[in-house]
Amino acid sequence: MPMETANMFNPASKVSKISHCSSMEQYKQMHAKSLKDPEAFWGEISKEFHFEEKVKGKFLDYNFDTTKGKIFVRWLEGAKTNICYNCLDRHVLAGKGDQVAFYWEGNDPADAEVVTYGELLKDVCRVANVLKAKGVAKGDRVAIYMPMVKQLVVAMLAVARIGAVHSIVFGGYSADSLADRMMDAQASVLITADAVWRGPKLIALKEIADDALKLCSAKDLKVKMNLVVQHMNKVTAPQPASNGTAANGNVAKKTHFDDKGNFKVNWDPLVDVWWHEAVSAASSECDPVWMDTEDPLFMLYTSGSTGKPKGVQHTIGGYMLYTATTFKYSFDYHQGDVYFCTADIGWITGHSYVTYGPLLNGATSVLFEGVPTYPHTGRFWEIIEKYKVSKFYTAPTAIRALMKFGDEPVKKYDLSSLAVLGSVGEPINPEAWLWYYRVVGDSNVSIVDTFWQTETGGHVITPLPGATPCKPGSACFPFFGVDVALLDEEGREIKGEGEGYLVFRRPWPGIMRTVYGNHERFETTYFKKFSGFYCTGDGARRDSDGYIWVTGRIDDMLNVSGHLLSTAQVESSLVEHPSVAEAAAVARPHSIKGECLYCFVTLTEGNTFEDKLVAELKNKVRSKIGAFASPDFIQLAPGLPKTRSGKIMRRVLRKIAVGDKDFGDISTLADPSIVEKLFELRPKES
Ligand code: ATP
Ligand code: MG
Repeated sequence: MPMETANMFNPASKVSKISHCSSMEQYKQMHAKSLKDPEAFWGEISKEFHFEEKVKGKFLDYNFDTTKGKIFVRWLEGAKTNICYNCLDRHVLAGKGDQVAFYWEGNDPADAEVVTYGELLKDVCRVANVLKAKGVAKGDRVAIYMPMVKQLVVAMLAVARIGAVHSIVFGGYSADSLADRMMDAQASVLITADAVWRGPKLIALKEIADDALKLCSAKDLKVKMNLVVQHMNKVTAPQPASNGTAANGNVAKKTHFDDKGNFKVNWDPLVDVWWHEAVSAASSECDPVWMDTEDPLFMLYTSGSTGKPKGVQHTIGGYMLYTATTFKYSFDYHQGDVYFCTADIGWITGHSYVTYGPLLNGATSVLFEGVPTYPHTGRFWEIIEKYKVSKFYTAPTAIRALMKFGDEPVKKYDLSSLAVLGSVGEPINPEAWLWYYRVVGDSNVSIVDTFWQTETGGHVITPLPGATPCKPGSACFPFFGVDVALLDEEGREIKGEGEGYLVFRRPWPGIMRTVYGNHERFETTYFKKFSGFYCTGDGARRDSDGYIWVTGRIDDMLNVSGHLLSTAQVESSLVEHPSVAEAAAVARPHSIKGECLYCFVTLTEGNTFEDKLVAELKNKVRSKIGAFASPDFIQLAPGLPKTRSGKIMRRVLRKIAVGDKDFGDISTLADPSIVEKLFELRPKES
């Protein structure tokens, strides 16, 4: 029996009694209705939100077929709303002003703050007024380059309140990357902070932003204001640790702080404005601008795993309905829950499931500034205990990294409040899934493996807690409104069991509308390959029970002796070996087999890379998948090349496998130095 059918996990008892969708029967009915009559389904949901004006045109209009003209998607035509109003005013007017919106947890455990819905609304209005006074108006782009602080949420909502468009750039990107994105968006304002501690490291955001602004002005982009949050005077600096983890911080303390311990910044009075000064002088009332539902809300660049990042553009109305609804059902959100998503707001997961989804539902969340391993490897679990978190959402890369330290750092904390554990970003290998379920969840939670993309706005394939019996490693079934199909290379539909291109037949409300400033790239990237379908670029398999298994990017597929293999399949079998913490498999051309497997493995603490292990690993893959799949090369990887959002960039590994140093664009890598190290570690016989 295949592994997946052997392990079926019933929805946890913790949520099944109260869940919004409490049986597969109900899920199927709701899903069928959402496809049969989108207007009735989403129309009903839209009643929970405030629309200043009702739909005047078609509820849904679209074209997904490039042979029939321009690709477009329009939901709720003619209706007017404001997403910030729906995130904040709606709850405050309903008497929830004193409810906590965010528990802010700093990089250092000593730093914490609480923000209510009422306070958030006032702060948002103040910043909206500051932006208005600088002439920022409907449709203008505002770039945001900030740490995970409450002011980041305030900034994005203030932009949305006045009908401007935010473009958030993750606070780990370089000056070049920030400048590129600001140029692409033609942003007229930047919002940043002086600096932030991430773990023991200092990130001097203002300094990087200054460099980016210079690059922009050299290319004639006139930025009217750089609004700077003063953050460093409010937080605890890392203490020098005996194991040297704060080494970087100690150097930074000497170079970036004056004798009195104040953080130093360069100041250009023509553009730089202190946030606290501007905000304290501004009024705490600001009318929202009523926007067309199809007006742009934000643009956000994809993480760049496969090539040059795309400026994905989302619009207001559909994104609002979709993030709110996916948040409610995928996490089975109820009043009283405390929710914690570890993603940075600089990624789509942070946009949809730190800011918009939770706030639209009036939820209470943890907003975490730090990293999972600082000041110790149990930091996530400590936070869950501290705030009694019931719904937790993180990425497989974090789960695998924390698994390396064993169960003990988890067991130290009381995690009994947890009811739903989410995963996003990459296929989660069954090994990691089971550890998450058993060790973190004490075998008494629902795991939700949510598949989606920057482009999809929200979850498109996911189990629902309380309804879906899970199989470890499968994202299970499509969300409401999502019409999944699998296609073969010729575009023929694969019905029933089988594997192919994962595509969607029609739009759900949260789908992207265009690539900013390049509609043609939007059409060619997602719609050219198969007329009438949105193509995700990922492959997937449907098993005999109808479960969807996302196998990874089609471009990364392996074809060994005529057998098509997914990277996820091979990597999962390698990671099953107790000495392997993480693995990446790529194809390398082979004169006989066509392609052979070249694998990179990162080891768990205290293991050494030796011939015996290599032989065991080859055997492992051979026994799990088949003799043909036995890797020709296995090399040690002290680390893997990952994007800053934690995804493995396999196109770089393919180059290493063949000894080619022409790596292409690696600017979105978190640690480009790893590429050289891996190159040096190539086995001699390769
Ligand atoms: P780029 O498009 O620039 O290469 P990216 O695809 O990494 O970057 P994102 O939009 O952040 O940018 O990531 C979406 C991709 O992440 C999906 O297409 C898929 O490959 C992967 N992914 C996300 N969640 C899951 C999941 N639960 N299971 C499997 N894969 C997932
Ligand atoms: Mg992508």
